[in-house]
Amino acid sequence: MAMTNDNKSVCVIGGGISGMTTAIEAAEIGYEVYLIEQSPSLGGRVAQLNQYFPKLCPPQCGIEINYKRIRINPKVRYFTLAEVERVSGEPGNFTVTLRLNPKYVNEKCTACNKCVEVCPVERSSSFNYGMSQTKAIYLPHEMAFPMKYVIDGTVCQKDQCAKCVAACPYGAIDLSMQPKKLDINVNSVVLATGWSPYDAAKIDNLKYGIYKNIIRNVEMERLAAPNGPTHGKIVRPSDNKEIKKIAFVQCAGSRDENHLAYCSSICCLASMKQATYVRSQYPDADIYIFYIDIRATGRFEDFFTKVQADNKITFIKGKVAKVLEDSQTNDITVVAEDILSGKKIYTTVDMAVLATGMVPNGLTAAMPSDIVYDEFGFAVSDLQTPGIYATGCAKKPADVAGCIQDATGTALRAIQTRVGV
Ligand SMILES: Cc1cc2nc3c(=O)[nH]c(=O)nc-3n(C[C@H](O)[C@H](O)[C@H](O)COP(=O)(O)OP(=O)(O)OC[C@H]3O[C@@H](n4cnc5c(N)ncnc54)[C@H](O)[C@@H]3O)c2cc1C
Ligand code: SF4
Ligand code: SF4
Repeated sequence: MAMTNDNKSVCVIGGGISGMTTAIEAAEIGYEVYLIEQSPSLGGRVAQLNQYFPKLCPPQCGIEINYKRIRINPKVRYFTLAEVERVSGEPGNFTVTLRLNPKYVNEKCTACNKCVEVCPVERSSSFNYGMSQTKAIYLPHEMAFPMKYVIDGTVCQKDQCAKCVAACPYGAIDLSMQPKKLDINVNSVVLATGWSPYDAAKIDNLKYGIYKNIIRNVEMERLAAPNGPTHGKIVRPSDNKEIKKIAFVQCAGSRDENHLAYCSSICCLASMKQATYVRSQYPDADIYIFYIDIRATGRFEDFFTKVQADNKITFIKGKVAKVLEDSQTNDITVVAEDILSGKKIYTTVDMAVLATGMVPNGLTAAMPSDIVYDEFGFAVSDLQTPGIYATGCAKKPADVAGCIQDATGTALRAIQTRVGV
């Protein structure tokens, strides 16, 4: 199957906040846009946050408006559960080859949930970073766009079961769906593939995945979220105990030659934001933030000042050397040298949160070989690859507002691409 245009067209790869913004801006100027997302829903990592700094509004605030602009604009064609197999060609005339993976659920789905009630198979929820389960047929999340259920073909028992097919009142399930290929022809390509959390299990001294009460910042977002695994109650994983003391470990693997040599720029703010989540649920909890330097510049300084004013939030300047676990209570002791006092300190807490950094999601194999990545895997968007532009966290770690600004500029560059430009 192939789709061709008069070449006033852009292909945006990645349907997070950056990709959605580029797509909408280009479409609202009159360009045909193909928005390609590998997961079953648009929204990216922002949909997994509980609130955004600095205003602490829920992700619905920013994402719903983008969903609406996509829904009402026929110039944006979006494909979810879609993979890019190859990008070839030249500025003004690229061919993007897609593999559209089967969802096994068609457009008739009304999101009534009757299929979930009968499905016997469970799978780990990637939306909740494995902290909960879904059925093999599931809604990607409460805010999903499109608001359609999808079947995880890797675990579904298909025709040996088919209970969901019988239960669906709308004939929306088709277990025989197959992957499809699609070639699209576009003027320019935008890489908005975003980021993934650093694999904290690689940081030997911080014992992620070994001690139950050590979690990552991304998991804290899900724990605090009303649609998360604990329905928004922040409790520690080992025993669901309420929190009296909690530590945030900054630069967990970041600014470290052995892991991520760069600063992800948002992790300090993310931990301060998460400290406010803890405070709103536990007015008396002691909160410790172990840091090397706090990165909260420009308009974010006010947020830092506000968090510092809480006299039960203690900032300790010192890199965490190790963590210990009490085998009886599963409490965690964080060991660090307090640079300001020069003393080695041992702080025992119910739970510790690792502020792990952002790793770029590459698309190296599918892209033309002349696309340039920096030493850390972020795409370099410059004149070396005319017609292919990177945006948002595919280019560098950034907050949502920074990504939106960048993505708007990227849309302007993308629509100006002509043959040979
Ligand atoms: C713990 C934490 C808390 C944060 N809190 C805040 C906050 O409070 N405020 C704030 O402003 N920022 C916050 N951020 C930063 C925020 O998450 C990013 O700014 C935002 O996610 C960047 O959006 P993006 O679209 O560039 O990338 P992403 O959100 O990663 O979206 C990329 C999309 O591309 C898709 N994709 C990837 N590869 C492919 C492929 N090959 N083909 C098709 N699709 C693909 C992905 O599935 C995803 O949907 C936080 C970050 C962390 C780590
Ligand atoms: S697939 Fe059918 S049963 Fe399941 S939510 Fe959609 S309409 Fe309801
Ligand atoms: S066919 Fe698959 S999705 Fe449907 S009920 Fe059975 S296991 Fe679940």
